[in-house]
Amino acid sequence: MDGDWDEVARIPFPPPGIRALPTPVTCLAFDISQELLWTGNEYGRVTSFYGAKLQQYTSFKAHTSHDGGVLQILFNDKGVIALGARGVHMRNRRGAPLWSIRHDDMKELRCMSFTSKGTSEILVAGEQEKMLVIDTVKGEVTKHVSTDHKYKIMRRSSRNICAATPGGSVHIIDSINFQVVKMWNAHTAAINDMDAQHDFIVTCGYSLRQQGNYMPDPFVNVFDLKNMVSMSPIPFPAGAAYVRMHPRMSTTSIVMSQIGQMHVVDLMNPNTSNVRQANSLSYFSMIEIAPSGEAVALADGDCSIHLWGSPSKIHFTEFGRPVETADAPPTVPRIDFDAWETPLSSIGMPYYREVLLSAWPGNMVTEIGLPPVKIDPQVLATLQEREWGFYGKNTRPLRRNQVEDIRSNESPQSTLKHPKFLSEKARELAKSPAGTPAPEEIFPDLPLVIHDSKLESHKIEVPELYQYIEIKYSKFGIDDFDFGYFNKSQYSGLQNHIVNAYANPLLQIMHYTPLIRNIALQHAATACVDEMCLLCELGFLFDMLDKAEGEACQASNFTKTLSYHPDSGQLGLREEEPHGAPLTLVLQQLARFLLRQMSQNYSTMVFKNIQSFGTDSQSPAAFEEVIPPLLRNPRISTNFALAISNFGTEHRHLWATPGWLPEEIGIIVDNGNFFCYEGEDLKLHLQRGIHNITVYSLTGLTANIDGGKQQQSHLVAMANVAHSAPATPNKSQWYLFNDFHVKAIPTKEALTFNTSWKTPSVIIYQVKSANNRLDSSWKQNLDARLLYLDLLPARGDKTYQTLSRDHEPAGSNTVVAIDTEFVKIAQPEVEMHSDGNTKIIRPTVHALARTSIVRGSGMDEGVPFIDDYILINEKVVDYLTSYSGITPEDLDKTVAAERGHNLVPLKIAYKKIWILLNLGCKFLGHGLKQDFRVINIYVPRAQVIDTSDLFFIKERLRKLSLQFLAHTILKEDIQLHTHDSIEDARTALRLYRKYQEYAEAGILETMLQEIYAKGLASNFKPPVRTAAGIPVRTDTPPVSDGAGAKAGMGTGTAPSTPSRKSGPSALALTPISTPLRESSSG
Ligand SMILES: [Zn+2]
Repeated sequence: MDGDWDEVARIPFPPPGIRALPTPVTCLAFDISQELLWTGNEYGRVTSFYGAKLQQYTSFKAHTSHDGGVLQILFNDKGVIALGARGVHMRNRRGAPLWSIRHDDMKELRCMSFTSKGTSEILVAGEQEKMLVIDTVKGEVTKHVSTDHKYKIMRRSSRNICAATPGGSVHIIDSINFQVVKMWNAHTAAINDMDAQHDFIVTCGYSLRQQGNYMPDPFVNVFDLKNMVSMSPIPFPAGAAYVRMHPRMSTTSIVMSQIGQMHVVDLMNPNTSNVRQANSLSYFSMIEIAPSGEAVALADGDCSIHLWGSPSKIHFTEFGRPVETADAPPTVPRIDFDAWETPLSSIGMPYYREVLLSAWPGNMVTEIGLPPVKIDPQVLATLQEREWGFYGKNTRPLRRNQVEDIRSNESPQSTLKHPKFLSEKARELAKSPAGTPAPEEIFPDLPLVIHDSKLESHKIEVPELYQYIEIKYSKFGIDDFDFGYFNKSQYSGLQNHIVNAYANPLLQIMHYTPLIRNIALQHAATACVDEMCLLCELGFLFDMLDKAEGEACQASNFTKTLSYHPDSGQLGLREEEPHGAPLTLVLQQLARFLLRQMSQNYSTMVFKNIQSFGTDSQSPAAFEEVIPPLLRNPRISTNFALAISNFGTEHRHLWATPGWLPEEIGIIVDNGNFFCYEGEDLKLHLQRGIHNITVYSLTGLTANIDGGKQQQSHLVAMANVAHSAPATPNKSQWYLFNDFHVKAIPTKEALTFNTSWKTPSVIIYQVKSANNRLDSSWKQNLDARLLYLDLLPARGDKTYQTLSRDHEPAGSNTVVAIDTEFVKIAQPEVEMHSDGNTKIIRPTVHALARTSIVRGSGMDEGVPFIDDYILINEKVVDYLTSYSGITPEDLDKTVAAERGHNLVPLKIAYKKIWILLNLGCKFLGHGLKQDFRVINIYVPRAQVIDTSDLFFIKERLRKLSLQFLAHTILKEDIQLHTHDSIEDARTALRLYRKYQEYAEAGILETMLQEIYAKGLASNFKPPVRTAAGIPVRTDTPPVSDGAGAKAGMGTGTAPSTPSRKSGPSALALTPISTPLRESSSG
């Protein structure tokens, strides 16, 4: 104890609870390896304090409060051993439990000591008849040692264990076999404190004085362990209460009285002592000295802990380890949420691999009842109590037992938002100030590009992009539906409201496979007049898709031909004859059928190398194993491959593997052996160039979208339009063709499947060298003979005069006036709601019944050169005679022959128009959109002259009827009794001439205003005439009469003083389709 020793810290001992009174320290101990002072309290709690400032470090309960205070603390490398009266407990220094022992033989434990085995074993003893040996590594009682003696203090000396008995003796115990080696009577009454170090035992104790009081002995007893003799006591007049041997100076001890007098004494020279005084308002209860000898801790009755030492160099251990402290909490980066550019995703979501519980599939979500409506407290207050419950007046606007529908405001919502009808948009546009686009045009609802971040195909349920879209019909029919809303691309979609529309996706991917497209178009340009020729129909369709450049088309002529093809019924390809097979299988069947048709029937064509294949591979592990059976036919060099597979459930997981479907494959056929490569392997083979390898590109695929119970299952197509572009682009351009919903999608999206709803159906690969080789030579080689061929050369009474190939060849600037008539082959399907509203599910289906085309210029301007009546395969449900002029007899073979009608199959009539179209003729007529739709042809705007557009002021919204225009401009009354397509075509032609006249004279605008003004005055109807004196028109006069031509030019004798039927014709004012006429007439 150096001269500068002083009290360096004093802290209150932490009370056992927040508001509890402080309790005294029950034991004190300096750690042997860290700068920690350990304490115990009366309730079994162990608390440690760090360093010279005694900062609290750990605190834990070593045993329950019932077991009383902590009696002694020992240390080893692993941690802290705490002794209670009935148990021993060990924890590491950070407070984590290592072991805890409670034993039946632990009753009144008082003390413990390490044994000969160092710190790996302790001996515990107390005022009980058994001592226990504990393995501190395992935390187990290993031995019971019976003893006749009870011990209250134990200290380990170099060789022995020194134990003080309650009676004032000290027993020297062998630390191996725990036998008492020596007994030494130290004090007459009791030992208060004892320490052993090196070769000495020092004790303080009490004696019984004459008045019956116990007094502290005024000396410290010393025992020499080396010689096993007691030495002369060291006097301490103040009364020695506590004593410690200095840990590093073998003969020095510190003795202290209860009131704080401290003497540092050399046992060998007791007369020289170093004295200090510790101050407390109370008595001192404990002293402990640090292993370094540089600090002393005291506890007093005021529940304080005092720390003494040299302020400049106080430390507890000599070569201690640093104290472990808690890791500093990670600093959270500051996020400025007011800043606009801060992404909300800065707050991370926990990573997860499995589907979150919150993402329940729809079929697992069931509706539960809503909580009952709250009863008005006023009603409750007025209820009267009876034995069986309460009763009161019914104040609701419902009957007594009627249940209120509290869900009524939750109307079922369609998953996909539908755009407004075109007529609605036009009306809104007219209402808004001039030049303001309709709101929808300002904010397009459907973004063109889908972000790559999260694939739609990975979603759990069918996302909007892949859902089936139903066409909605207003009273204006299908033309009022805004298809443009669903397709902003230049690639046309196909409408899905017709029978056999399931074929749409297959037709699309075939269209985007140049080999098939070229072959079909080349064939369609030949003289083929086979009614059932599907290749011709494909050609017509592909031409239409090309010309439409993004406008929605329909494959109605193709699907119609398919329906009547002799083989389609047997193969189950007709949607109208359902046989239970899933659509995906039907589509695969159709793909096989089409390819077979092409290769069998048209083998003289350029195209002869088509093979259709099916996969039957049992367990393909890789894509290469699926494809070979498709192509394994070395005799034929295959231009393209078509993969059709059931893609059964057992292979589903393979398709779900990302990147499983390659965009390119290479095939080597070597000695009849067949090899297929993709990816890096393919690259390698191409570099080596040893084998003759054929590379195929994926042009498109169809996928089955299984919407589960909620949505209709259907098929979609994904096509890489890059392969059919005029030039080779650098990258893939995948588009989704979900009927008329067309959108650019990332390659990954196209090639990713989803086992639960998106599975492949038909896949097309085409030989890579054919990519971007679109052959348009068919336009130059178009076989136009049909146009100049008169099928009724002998009849003199026919209504047309076929074009002469030599004198009037049709060409790119030939104007022809056209009008068609059609009949109804299916009634609209209408859903009636209980509220009186109706909804059209499928609109009326029309079939082309007559096409009339008249010359638009030349000597014979106005003379028809085509007047075809069409043989209709379907059952006609309504001839619409009052509008079409068509009677059942007109379409009857026998009667038609008598009347001189040119009754032909649809194919013939269609092909003539198609030839005119591709020769570049301009089609003139009134309201042609509807005609073209029924014909199923797309005529580019540059080739259309529509008088309903020429005589139209956009702001007025109203389009003018042919009848009204004829009356107002030509002073002619037409369509009085019935419609006649030749007359209508001619009328349109004459209106066009008037239009040119007005335009040349520069009075067009004035005339238009005048026409509308007249219309407003007459409600856009020609004046009503009396029914008297009207000759009933029977038929179009034959050309040979000469009257036709003259009548055609507006001076003829045909209907001159006509009457008009009330009703239908007056309504033909708008761009309306037939449904309106019908609905208003019926
Ligand atoms: Zn054909």
